[in-house]
Amino acid sequence: MTLKSINPFNGKTIKTYKEHSPKEIDKKIAQTHQTWLSWKETTFKERSTLMMNLEKVLKSKKEKLAKLMTEEMGKPYLAGIGEVEKCALVCEYYAKNAKDFLKDQIIKTDASKSFVAFEPIGVVLAIMPWNFPFWQVFRFLAPNLMAGNCDILKHASNVSGCALAIEEMVLDAGFPKYTFQTLFVSGKKVNPIIENPFIKAVTLTGSTAAGKKVAEKAGSVLKKCVLELGGSDPYIILKDADLEYAAGACVNSRMINNGQSCIAAKRFIVVKSVEKEFIKLFKQKMESKLMGNPIDKKTDLGPQARTDLRDELHQQVKKSIAKGAKCILGGEIPKGKGAFYPATILTNLKKGMPAYDDELFGPVASIITVKDEKEAIKVANDSVFGLGSAVFTNDLKRGEKIAKHQLQAGSAFVNDFVKSDPRLPFGGINQSGFGRELSSFGIHEFINIKTIYIK
Ligand code: NDP
Repeated sequence: MTLKSINPFNGKTIKTYKEHSPKEIDKKIAQTHQTWLSWKETTFKERSTLMMNLEKVLKSKKEKLAKLMTEEMGKPYLAGIGEVEKCALVCEYYAKNAKDFLKDQIIKTDASKSFVAFEPIGVVLAIMPWNFPFWQVFRFLAPNLMAGNCDILKHASNVSGCALAIEEMVLDAGFPKYTFQTLFVSGKKVNPIIENPFIKAVTLTGSTAAGKKVAEKAGSVLKKCVLELGGSDPYIILKDADLEYAAGACVNSRMINNGQSCIAAKRFIVVKSVEKEFIKLFKQKMESKLMGNPIDKKTDLGPQARTDLRDELHQQVKKSIAKGAKCILGGEIPKGKGAFYPATILTNLKKGMPAYDDELFGPVASIITVKDEKEAIKVANDSVFGLGSAVFTNDLKRGEKIAKHQLQAGSAFVNDFVKSDPRLPFGGINQSGFGRELSSFGIHEFINIKTIYIK
C-alpha cells in the first residue's frame, strides 16, 4: 500500500510513499523508546539549546516549507510562511518556559519535605491532520520534547512530504537520532500502534469521528489521550457592534486556510436589527476574496485540500438549500481543474440543516438571524461542538460576561476572531474533544504528576 500526495490545484500526483509494514513500525517505535531512555536524562538547558536550533532551522527553510504546503494541500503561499513562523515561535516559547512550567512544586504537609515533580512518560503518538501540517505537529512536538518525552508522528496520508520535512528538521537541529520519527501508515491501521507497549499516550487533531475511534482504542488499553476535534464556532453580532469591523473579522476567520480550520468562524448569529447591514458588509468582503493558484501571493482562496472533501462540503451546501436555506453567494463548483470551492454564504438557516448542525470545513458561511441577545446565546450553544466562540459588541463588560459565563466553548473571544497563541491554552469541550494544548496547561498533559513524600 502507498500513501499519495496529490496537488489539489491540478490533481497531479506529487509523490507516493510506501507504507511502513507492521514490523518496520514496531522497530521504529522501539528505537524511539530506546532514545527516550537517555533523552529523559537530559537537562532543560540541553533540550532548550536544541529547541532553539530547531527554531532557526524552521526560519531558514520557511519559503521551501510554505511551497511544500501549497503543493500538498493547497494552502496559500503567504499563509504558509505565517504558519512556519508560528512554529518557530512555539519552539522559542517552550525553549524559554518549559523549565519554569515543570519545576518542582513544594507542598507543605506532615512530611519533612513533600513536593510534586513532573516526570516524562515516554513515547507519545501524535495523529495529525493536513490542514496546518506544520503548526498542528509543532504545537505538540515543542512542549513534548521539552518535557523529556519522545514522539512518533502519524501524519495525514496526503501530507507525507511535510511529515518527512519535520523529521529532517528535528535531526538537522541536532536532536538525537529517533527522538522524533514519522510513520507512513493509513489512519485505518493505527490500532496496533496505540496498543504497542512503548506508546504511552496519544494525541489526535482531526475529525470527531476519528477522535472517537482513537479514544475507544486508547481507553481499551488504558492510555491517556488528548483530542482536538472539529468545531462549529459561533460568532454573535450584537446590535451595538462595530459592524464594519465585525464583518471584516468574521470573514477573515471564516476564510482562514481556505475555510479549513477547526477554529474558523462557522456560524454567524446576527440580531435582527442589524441583519441587513451586517449581511451587506459581510457579502462585500467575501466577494473580494480572490480565488486562484495558491502559489500566487495575491490569492486569498486556494483549492480545498482534497477533491473528496470539497465534494462532501458541496453536498452539505446542497442539502441545506434543499431544506430551505438561501444561497446568496457562491454555492456552485467552478468549472475547470482543481478542488476549488467558492466563497459561499447561506442564510435562512434552521435546525436540521447541515449548515446549522454540522461542521462545514470550507469557505461556506452560515448566517443565522435571531431576535435578540438571549436567543443569540441559545443558538450559539445549540451545537454538539464547543471549540471556540466570539461575541462582537461595543459594551466590553457585557461582552466579557457573555464570554465568561454564557458561551459554552473552550475559548470565547470578545471583538476578535479566535486564534491559537502559544501563551494561552487551546482545546474544546463536548464533541470538540478534551485536554488542552499550548501554554503551561499543554505541557502538563503528557507528564507523570508525581508526588514525592519524605518523612
Ligand atoms: P480525519 O479526522 O479522518 O484525519 C485526521 C487524522 O486522523 C489523519 O492523520 C488521519 O489519517 C487520522 N485518522 C483517520 N481515521 C482514523 C482512525 N480511525 N484511527 C486513527 N487515526 C485516524 O480527517 P479527514 O482528513 O478525513 O477530514 C474530514 C473532516 O475532519 C474535515 O472535513 C473536518 O471536518 C475534520 N477535520 C478537522 C480538523 C481539525 O483541525 N480539528 C483537521 C482535519 C479534518 P489518514 O489521513 O491516513 O486517514
